[in-house]
Amino acid sequence: MNSSVTVIGLGPMGATMAKTFLKNGHPTTVWNRTASKAAPLVDDGATLAATAADAVAASELVVVSQIDYQAMYDSLKGVGLEGRVVVNLSSGSPDELRRAGEWVSGNGGVLVTGGIMVPPPGIGQPGSYVFYSGPEEALDPHKEALAELGDVTFVGTDLGLSSLYYQSQLYLFWSTLTAYMHGVALLGAAGVPAQRFRPFAATTLSELTGDGPMGFLKHLTEEIEADISPGDENSLRMQAVGADHVVEAAREAGIDVAGPTALRDLFWRGVDAGDGANSLSSVINVIRRPA
Ligand code: NDP
Repeated sequence: MNSSVTVIGLGPMGATMAKTFLKNGHPTTVWNRTASKAAPLVDDGATLAATAADAVAASELVVVSQIDYQAMYDSLKGVGLEGRVVVNLSSGSPDELRRAGEWVSGNGGVLVTGGIMVPPPGIGQPGSYVFYSGPEEALDPHKEALAELGDVTFVGTDLGLSSLYYQSQLYLFWSTLTAYMHGVALLGAAGVPAQRFRPFAATTLSELTGDGPMGFLKHLTEEIEADISPGDENSLRMQAVGADHVVEAAREAGIDVAGPTALRDLFWRGVDAGDGANSLSSVINVIRRPA
């Protein structure tokens, strides 16, 4: 018999996780602030707990998926967590997650934090993965069940680490897609359809990640790790002037300039700090030392 699992929080993510556990044969108990959301899962064989305390009592593994960590406090306040491994996969800041670890310990349980790197339809699909951090010995007995959601990617004992990885990835994801939308709007203002731009954007994205001569991510990482920024072929000053033109182009097109302006300002702060003749990788210094 598969181990029992409790899922607290039945938004799109929690509901998909509960469904996945059920599909894999785990006796699954669910609880949600709005109980009606459990109906389709109950139809699939889940047990709806009357209270959060009942849900926690049902399984050693308690997976939490809610909008934030405050929701966990609201849901589990006064609930004894003795002998429970609470795996919270909700979004929160690293310090918030560390404080949550103390709160869960204070209530008798052990907290493991996680950041899910796929949207709900990706749960349990090939390529999906979840960053976990915290006490690995508490995670170990549940790795098999959790692997059904996505690859278990343990990143360290510091409870804040899963969130640091998650947020680093999210910022990369959001800023990249937002920059793409900026291009769509900029070209769109001149009557160019998005589908015309898409293949060019796709080429740039693959050049960013490739291992070939254009492998920007690879080169940038090497420069940052070696603490060198050779700017003889493309200086930061040249790129800061180019970034001014991106802002101007957005202004001329009548589209939002806030994103390009933030980028342009970052580059000029690097130039003003003395990195004008260095390469783009010197911008890491400005990022590490906020104004
Ligand atoms: P939401 O972030 O909208 O979370 C909804 C859930 O939070 C519901 O179960 C809701 O209960 C519960 N909730 C909110 N406030 C409270 C509260 N004060 N007390 C108790 N429960 C509360 O939906 P998702 O399912 O999409 O996301 C869940 C988590 O997963 C989030 O932290 C999100 O950042 C993360 N995530 C989501 C992804 C996605 O693509 N959806 C991708 C990766 C991570 P109720 O139904 O009663 O309102």
